Amino acid sequence: MMWARLLKRVFDIDIEQCACGGKLKLIAVIEEPDVIEKIFKHIGLDPQPPPITPARRRAQ
Ligand SMILES: [Zn+2]
Repeated sequence: MMWARLLKRVFDIDIEQCACGGKLKLIAVIEEPDVIEKIFKHIGLDPQPPPITPARRRAQ
């Protein structure tokens, strides 16, 4: 799961860490865009990802 390692490295988000301190286990991963879009629409979320913008230089 390359994306899980990237989330941890870039945003310090550990998808295996539960808020209660326990360990989470992935039981399925949905990667098909059509299925993801259906799920998002069903739960009332915008299925379109935010626009990609160039990185900004950090003020020093
Ligand atoms: Zn928990």
